This record gives sequence, C-alpha cells and structure tokens, in this order.
Amino acid sequence: MAWLVTGGSGYIGSHVIRALAGEGLDPVVLDDLSSGIESFVPDGVPFVRGTILDQALVEKTIDDYGVTGVIHVAGYKYAGVSVQRPLHTYEQNVTGTAVLLAAMAAKGVDRIVFSSSAAVYGVPPTDVVTEDTPKSPESPYGESKLIGEWLLRDQGVATGLRHTSLRYFNVVGSGEPSLYDASPHNLFPLVFQALLDGRVPKIFGDDYATPDGTCVRDYVHVSDLALSHAVAARKLDAGETLEPAYNLGSGDGSSVKQIMDAMAEGTGIDFEPEIATRRAGDPDRIVAEGVLAGSDLDWKMRHTLLEMVESAWAARQAAE
Ligand code: UDP
Repeated sequence: MAWLVTGGSGYIGSHVIRALAGEGLDPVVLDDLSSGIESFVPDGVPFVRGTILDQALVEKTIDDYGVTGVIHVAGYKYAGVSVQRPLHTYEQNVTGTAVLLAAMAAKGVDRIVFSSSAAVYGVPPTDVVTEDTPKSPESPYGESKLIGEWLLRDQGVATGLRHTSLRYFNVVGSGEPSLYDASPHNLFPLVFQALLDGRVPKIFGDDYATPDGTCVRDYVHVSDLALSHAVAARKLDAGETLEPAYNLGSGDGSSVKQIMDAMAEGTGIDFEPEIATRRAGDPDRIVAEGVLAGSDLDWKMRHTLLEMVESAWAARQAAE
C-alpha cells in the first residue's frame, strides 16, 4: 500500500513518512522544495520533485508508484504572511488541493488524510476548543484550510472519497536530530536563531488577558502528530470510517513565558527575554482537547514540554 505524502520533505511531512514506514506502509514523497529540504527524505523513499498544481505529474506519480492513498501536507502555512499574499495562499492551498483531488479522482485513489489547522477556529470563544467549536478563520491561511476540509467533504459526497482532516495546534520538537523546523516565523525557530546569533529572544506582548500576560498555545510534539497520520492511513486502508476532522491538541496550554523558561532549561542558556510589542493578529489563547483523536487515532502526549525543547534544540544545533 503506497501512500503519497505531499510536502513530504518538510518539517512535518518528513516525520509523517517515518511514521508511515513504522506502521508498515510505503511512503512516496511529492514536494516542490519551496520550503522542504530534500535531505529530510530518507534513502529508499521515492522522491518526486514537483508541485501539486501539476495534475499530470500527480497522476504520473500515482501510476508510477501504485499510490492508493494520500497524506496531503503540502501547503503554504504562514497565517501572518497570508494576509499580505492571499492569492498565493489560495493558489497553493485551495487550487493545489483541488488539483490533487482531481488527480486522485482520475486515478481512482479514494482515501486522503489532510493537514488542517487550528487557524480554522480563528479566535475561539471557549477556553478549550473541540471539533464542534464554530469555525471562524481570521486569515486567508485559516480560510484556505477550512476550504480544503470542505473540498474533501464535497468530494466524499460526489465520489465516495474517504477522508479525514487533522487540525494541528502548535507543532514543535523533533523526532531525530536530522529533522528540524526551518520556519522563519514561529516561536521555537525564532528563539533558537536568536540564541545562536547571540541575540535576546523576544516575547511578542505581555499584556494579554492570560495569567502571566503572554499568549497561551497548545504545543504538541511532531512525532506524536506524525504517528496519528499513519494510524489514520492504516485505518482508512482497513476500511474503517473516521471522523471528518480531529483536533490534535493536548488539552493543556503553555504561555510564551513558560516556553521561554523551558527554552532556558532545555538549551542550558541563561537568558532573560525582551518584551516586544504585540504581533498583529495573535489571539490570547488557543488550546484544544484531543479526546476524539485519542480514541480513534492513538493520539496522546508522549513527550513533555522540556523534551520538545531539547529535541528541537538538538536538531537545530545539528543543522549549523
Ligand atoms: N512569539 C513570540 N516571540 C517570537 C515568536 C512568537 O512571543 O519570537 C509568540 C507569538 O506571539 C505567539 C506564540 O509565540 O503567541 C506562538 O507563535 P507561533 O508563530 O509559533 O505560532 P502561532 O500560535 O502564531 O501559530
């Protein structure tokens, strides 16, 4: 059973291909290397360089490798930048998903696991988000992920496509030292870059309506997240029905200040973060429960926050 992983040479996708192999499934990677790193794909895993927008290439890849299912991780993932580049975000995330689904339909590939996001909720009206919390995305990125979920649902009705969407919260950590998060916009890589450059990491605002004034988020380990993708793939292969969407959240939040403390402990670098101004569009708090994914997708927190910091730091240092 070959599973195509779009975006398989990125930070999350490269963990997903390892989890698939661990579950006895054969991954095949399609990635345009716009942000992925080819060396993240291990020897023995087929790698096709190209974009999901190229339907002929997707269809050829399906044929060449006998693909029977798709884990669709490829996408443009920066909510803040998507406000400046809405059309780019829509092309990559909405048109890209539509083209991929068209290729799958043309080739009779009838199962997909989709990378969705906490961004579909926008600023949630509750302390702990569940799958039923109203969807109210606040960026083109969040909108594009919600539309992606709708495209799967609509293809499900039209063609019998079997699907599930996994809504990621804050994905951090590293499953092995060769795989790191190269994002130029997220908290973990920005703190590491500052520490490596000898600069002081910044907290974007300490006047939020949270216990210590800094934003609260739900940090989850990338290997735990990747495993649930592989479990979803295995269950779809077994003909089991999955929910349309699952939150991959821990039920627990950490503030930016708490992350900074864990960073100091995990890196062994004693630093006092600078308090900077708020970053536009950051909600006070986003935390989700992962109960549904816990029952269906073997989702659980297998790593502490300190382990997330230590593994991510080891991988980031190894990349120097
Ligand atoms: N953040 C920060 N300093 C940084 C980068 C991020 O204080 O250098 C904060 C950001 O304001 C947010 C949290 O860290 O409250 C997580 O940000 P990230 O971009 O990693 O993920 P988001 O939750 O925005 O998707």
